[in-house]
Amino acid sequence: STTFPSPDQTRILTIANQKGGVGKTTTTVNIAAALATHGLEVLVVDIDPQGNASTALSIDHSTGVDGIYEVLIDDYDISEVVAQSSEFETLKCVPATIDLAGAEIDLVSKVAREMRLHRALTKYLEEQDEAGQRVDYVLIDCPPSLGLLTVNAFVAAREVFIPIQCEYYALEGVSQLLKSIQMIQQHLNQELWISTVLLTMYDGRTRLSAQVAEEVRTHFEDQVLRTVIPRSVRISEAPSYGRTVISYEPSSSGALSYREAAEEISLRGIKNG
Ligand code: ADP
Ligand code: MG
Repeated sequence: STTFPSPDQTRILTIANQKGGVGKTTTTVNIAAALATHGLEVLVVDIDPQGNASTALSIDHSTGVDGIYEVLIDDYDISEVVAQSSEFETLKCVPATIDLAGAEIDLVSKVAREMRLHRALTKYLEEQDEAGQRVDYVLIDCPPSLGLLTVNAFVAAREVFIPIQCEYYALEGVSQLLKSIQMIQQHLNQELWISTVLLTMYDGRTRLSAQVAEEVRTHFEDQVLRTVIPRSVRISEAPSYGRTVISYEPSSSGALSYREAAEEISLRGIKNG
C-alpha cells in the first residue's frame, strides 16, 4: 500500500537541468500523474517552447492557443490559460506553444522580467486557496538552458528537482547549474534549494549506470531519491499516445518506479535546505 500525504502548503518544484534529453519532461509528467492518481491537486507549468509536457498530457498547445507565453509577456492570469487534463481529474496544465521560443527575447524589455512567473503563480495559488481548491504540487518543466525562462522558474519555485541521466558525462554541466542556482539564491530567491535529485534511464546491466549512480549519490547525498528510473521502452512510447506511462502501462516497471519516486517525494515533505 502507498501513502501520499497532502503537504501543509503548496510545494513548487522546478524540474531543471540545462542538458537536453535527461528526462526532465518525462519526470515532470509522470510524477505529476502519480501524485494526481492519489487525489492530490497538481499543476504542471510547461515553460519549454517544445511543449513536450503539454503533448505528453494531451493538452492542446497548437499555435493560437493561449498558454504560458501570454502569462509571461501579455500579463494574462494563469486561470485564463490553464487546461484540465482529460485523464486525471486533479491535474491541470499551463500549456506552452511554439510562441514561447520568442519569449526569451520578448522578456528582456519587460519590467521585473525574472519575476513574472512568480507573480502570476502567486496570484493563481492565492485564488485557488480562497476558492477552497488548494493546489498541492506545482511542477515546472524547464527548457534545456539557463536563460530567462529557467530563471523565471527558479524564482517562482521553492525547490529544484534535478533529473540526471545515467550516462557518460552525467555530471557535466552540473557545476554550471549549481552556480546558476546560487546566483538566484543570492539575488532573487533566498528560499530556493535543491530538494530532489532523480537518477533516470538507469540500465541495471551496465557498470556505467552503477558508476554514475554512485558518483551522483556521493555528490548530492540525501537529495538523491532511493528510487531510480529504469530505461524502459514503455516510458518512451507513452508520449506518442498523449499519455503518461502511469496510465498507459500502469503495471510496467517504468510506471512502478515513477509511482515510487512520487511517493518518496511526498513523504519527504517540505524541509529547509
Ligand atoms: P528532457 O525533457 O530532459 O529533454 P525527456 O524527458 O524529453 O528529456 O527525455 C528524452 C527522451 O528520452 C525522450 O524521448 C523520452 O521519451 C526518453 N526517455 C526519458 N526517460 C526514459 C526512460 N526512463 N527510459 C527510456 N526512455 C526515456
Ligand atoms: Mg523536456
